[in-house]
Amino acid sequence: MSDDQAPLLRTVNVSRDYPLAGEIVHAVRGVSLDIRDGEYCAIVGPSGCGKSSLLNLLGAIDRPSRGAVELRGRDVSGMSDRQATDFRLRNIGFVFQRFYLMPMLSASENVELPMAEAGVGKRERRARAASLLSYVGLGVRTRHRPSQLSGGEQQRVAIARALANRPALLLADEPTGELDAHTGREMIALFGRLNADGTTLVVVTHDEALAQAAHRVVHMVDGRIVSDESNGFPTPPGGSGA
Ligand code: ADP
Ligand code: MG
Repeated sequence: MSDDQAPLLRTVNVSRDYPLAGEIVHAVRGVSLDIRDGEYCAIVGPSGCGKSSLLNLLGAIDRPSRGAVELRGRDVSGMSDRQATDFRLRNIGFVFQRFYLMPMLSASENVELPMAEAGVGKRERRARAASLLSYVGLGVRTRHRPSQLSGGEQQRVAIARALANRPALLLADEPTGELDAHTGREMIALFGRLNADGTTLVVVTHDEALAQAAHRVVHMVDGRIVSDESNGFPTPPGGSGA
């Protein structure tokens, strides 16, 4: 398949087993999923059903036990660790429930970090971090450290950091899980804006309001996809609704 026809992201019958105390946990069982450019997809399901495991496979943080993960038609499951790390750095942004900011770095420095890893020069890093922080609504606290920011502000920094290298795909695992309802709603609005501005989003969530804001909802139970539905929004051009 040529790259321009390939979906942004595709899993082909992907599985992930974890060995645990002499047993095997089948966390993801034969999932085939296509994510097209511009989609806003929520993955929902009960705790322990394999959502985070699947998201880690989608983002090449982890490798499947069986099956393939392709980004733009390129198999990422077979890459070396180093290739995968570099690929992830340039193509995929991650947002986690617990933010995982570097405590000793300022908001701006946290956002600059992935750019530094990608070889972007200092002056451009500074400028891009400032514009990203302003884009996520944190224009004035760029010199603050994470401990000097509220949870919602920290999550904004984490989102700006995830966008640092202009990834094609943003993956988020329970991004409102640590936030109060009001801040959670602000984050949902921000995700909506990111998607409207062209970022493809895949969000794992327990948050009903966040799932409803997505345009597509994939429901998992026991490691499998049990439903995959449009949320009443039009699918993007060339989308998966056909
Ligand atoms: P969810 O995100 O939907 O709550 P997870 O993907 O975290 O689910 O976990 C799916 C299953 O895999 C659970 O039974 C969990 O206990 C198990 N699991 C997750 N990570 C590991 C691991 N590193 N080692 C062993 N079992 C794991
Ligand atoms: Mg999880």
